[in-house]
Order: sequence, then structure tokens, then C-alpha cells
Amino acid sequence: MELPARFVERLDEQLGAAEAARLRTALDGEPPVSIRLNPSREGGEALLRRLGCRAAVPWCDGGYYLRERPSFTFDAAFHAGAYYVQEASSQFVGRLLPDAAEGLRILDLCAAPGGKTTLYAAKVGPRGLVVANEIDRKRVQVLADNVRKWGTGNVAVTCCDPQRMTGCDGAFDVVAVDAPCSGEGMFRKDDAARAEWSEQNVHRCAARQDAILDAAWRMLRAGGTLLYSTCTFNREEDEGALERLLARVGDEAVEASPVEVPEAWGIVCGRTGVFRTFRFFPHRAEGEGFFAAVARKAEEAPTPRTAVKGRRSVLAPLDRATRGELARWVTEPEAMRFAQAGDTCYGWYAEQADEVRRLSELLPVVYSGVAMGQLFKGCLRPDPALAFFAGLNRGALPAAELTEEEALAYLRKQEVAAERFAQGMNLVCREGRALGFAKRIGGRVNNLYPNALRILKNED
Ligand code: SAM
Repeated sequence: MELPARFVERLDEQLGAAEAARLRTALDGEPPVSIRLNPSREGGEALLRRLGCRAAVPWCDGGYYLRERPSFTFDAAFHAGAYYVQEASSQFVGRLLPDAAEGLRILDLCAAPGGKTTLYAAKVGPRGLVVANEIDRKRVQVLADNVRKWGTGNVAVTCCDPQRMTGCDGAFDVVAVDAPCSGEGMFRKDDAARAEWSEQNVHRCAARQDAILDAAWRMLRAGGTLLYSTCTFNREEDEGALERLLARVGDEAVEASPVEVPEAWGIVCGRTGVFRTFRFFPHRAEGEGFFAAVARKAEEAPTPRTAVKGRRSVLAPLDRATRGELARWVTEPEAMRFAQAGDTCYGWYAEQADEVRRLSELLPVVYSGVAMGQLFKGCLRPDPALAFFAGLNRGALPAAELTEEEALAYLRKQEVAAERFAQGMNLVCREGRALGFAKRIGGRVNNLYPNALRILKNED
């Protein structure tokens, strides 16, 4: 499909004819395939060999380019959350976090499907918290699925218009805006992005970005870090959005620490006022078109507090016996807190528990911490999410190790041979990585993989 004519004209004006021509040629090429390993899962090296790793993504620990695109759908390790398929340029945002990222409170304001959320979750560790917000109710479910599968247990997923997130003023150390944009950087990968592009849409996106950035600024604490990114090339949505924000917030915005970017990476570094900016052009850096920027809110910036009357939290305390049963299923029970929402018990690392409770009084929380499961006659029937949790106590139940073929049958929710399973509840594993649960009763195995996640496609 041809590039939109007006896009080509605008690109010539912005970059000059020669640079724009090089970029257009790159947009007709093949996009690289890249993944990011989940650091809480083992066996990364063997996995990379099997997937055909060709090089490391230089700007992201755990990021790798593959020689070609495998069929991720038919790879059990993908379903076990061993890696996330993520475009390489996007992986750069991890470098823009403050140096000591562990324990930070990060708001990922436009988060679905969750590529950057999972990266931030890995960076902040169990003492930190990522609030991953998505405005779209369908997309928020995909985000929650990816968060469960990633298994760090330190993410709260909310579904809110950023304008309505009152009550969170000044609450976050980092606010990341990966803005909805006109998607010019995706033109190589995605014909739909070419078809949907129009100049009016660029203006519409820019106006929406201004509103999102205002909300983001409000929720950033004094001294906190603002990350802004888009996957588009035009100035109006990139440097323009930053200039307009700076005109509104004035000297409340200050520089962030320098970010080391070797020239060989091909990233075009720049400045827009106090913002440090980073541009990824596919003819210069190995990734799709991407723009990222970072600045801080001054320590002395005022934080206006909007008075908000919270709702009653949906989280109910648990009795001692139930807490004891839940404690059996995790490796660090003393580091966790448990409560119930509806009929499901949840666990959070102690450092996040109060914050998630407060959040649940202010915003619609779709998922948070780790869903432990439901209690029947004092025993936990584990939630599928618990299988993925990095803090699951593997000693709590027997593990059934399957072949790749058997694992794919399990993921299709088909029958699996009973011999592999002990009587009662089993953790279903492939190469030691958990995929879910199954219960053997006599000679029958009840496949407990969630219907909504099962593989529906057939292999070619
Ligand atoms: N950060 C995601 C990742 O790394 O996987 C990608 C985010 S995508 C570029 C932008 C997201 O913003 C979309 O999921 C879209 O639904 C959401 N969005 C759309 N309109 C929005 C608005 N007004 N406020 C906040 N988010 C919005």
C-alpha cells in the first residue's frame, strides 16, 4: 500500500528531501522481530537458541532480535510468559527511568496491551508498584491477561479516562504517557496504520495528547519523572506536544539526569526545552519509528490536591485460617498481605497492599497483585494467574511436566494423558515453566486452562 501523499509531503518538509527519501525506503523493508525475556523465568539462554536469536537489543537488557518470526502462538514458552514480543525501539523506555528504579511507584497511563507495563514491572521489583491504566474496556482485558502472565505480582490495572483520575494528584514517582498517536512509525508493519492516516487525525491526536499530558503532570509528584512517547514521526505530536506542555507548566519542569546513548545505536538525540528527546528512524536505528522524551517536575513545584470522596473498598479482610491456607502457596508469605474481592482471594506484596486498597477506593481496579483463587471447604482452588506468579511456592503441589505437543494440547484445552499427573491438583509445566493447573481424579484429568485464553488457531 502506498504511503499517504500528504504524509510524504509533511515528511519532506520536516526532514528535508534526502533524509525523508531514506526513511521512505526503510518503510518498504522488512521489520525486525524482537522479544524481551521475562527476568523472573529461568532457561532464557536455551530459549534464545531455540527461537533463533541473532543479536541483543543494545539499549535494553533482556531484549533480543530474532533471525525470523517464529509462530509465537504455537510456542508453549510464550504462553508461560517467558518472554514478551515487543518492538525493539519501544524497549528504550526502560533507560529513561531514574537510576534506582527498584521500589518506584510508576503510573503507565496509556498501558494496553502492556509491553511497557511488563518492562516497568520487571524494573521496579516486588517493592515497587506499576499502576497500568487503559481507557478502553476491551483493551484493558488484554492488558490484564498480559499482566497475569508476566507474573510479577506488582501491577494494578485500572480502566479510567486520565481526566477522571482525580484523587491521584502528586501520587507517582514516574508517570509514563505512551500516547495514542497517528502511528506513522508503524507504517512498515501495519497497512491499517497507512490507511487510517489523515492530517485531521494528526491534529486530533495532538489535542488528545495535550489533555493526557495535563492529567499526567497533575499526578506526578514534585521531583518525579515524566516519560512521553509516541510511535509517530511528526513534530506536532512529538516535540510540539512537549512545547505546548512546557508553555502550560513553565518552570515547574526541569531536566532529568543525562541518558547515555552511544552514537552507534543510531538514535537521534535532541532537546525540546528541558526535555531530552530520542528519535528512532528505521533507516538509522534497528527498530520501528518511535519518539521518547524525559523531564522531571521540580522539587519545589506545587501539587494541587483535588478533594475526592472515595468509595468503600471492595477488598474484605480474611480470617486467620484462610490466610494460613493462602500462605502455603507462596514462597514469601511474611512479605505478603491477603484479602478478598468478590469470591476471589488476592495477594499483594506488603509494600503495595495499602496503596492498592486506597486506589480501589478511588478508581475501578480491574486486576491487582496476584489472584490466588477461591476457597472451597478451607482449601484453595488456585486461580490460573497463580500458576504464573513468580512467588508461587512450587512445593505446594505436584508438577506435571509435559512434552511440547502435550503442552499445546493442554493450551488448546484438549485432553491430556493422565499418566503425567498425580492425583489431585497439579501445576502443568513445560520445560519447568508453569502454564496453568489441571486436576486428576482417578483416570481423568480436568484441564483447568481458562477458556478465554485457549489456542483456537490451527498450525499451518
Ligand atoms: N503502552 C502500550 C504498550 O507498550 O503496549 C501501548 C499504548 S498505545 C500506543 C496507546 C493506548 O492509549 C491505547 O491502548 C489506547 O486505547 C489508549 N488511549 C486512547 N485514547 C486515550 C485517552 N484519551 N486517554 C488515555 N489513553 C488513551
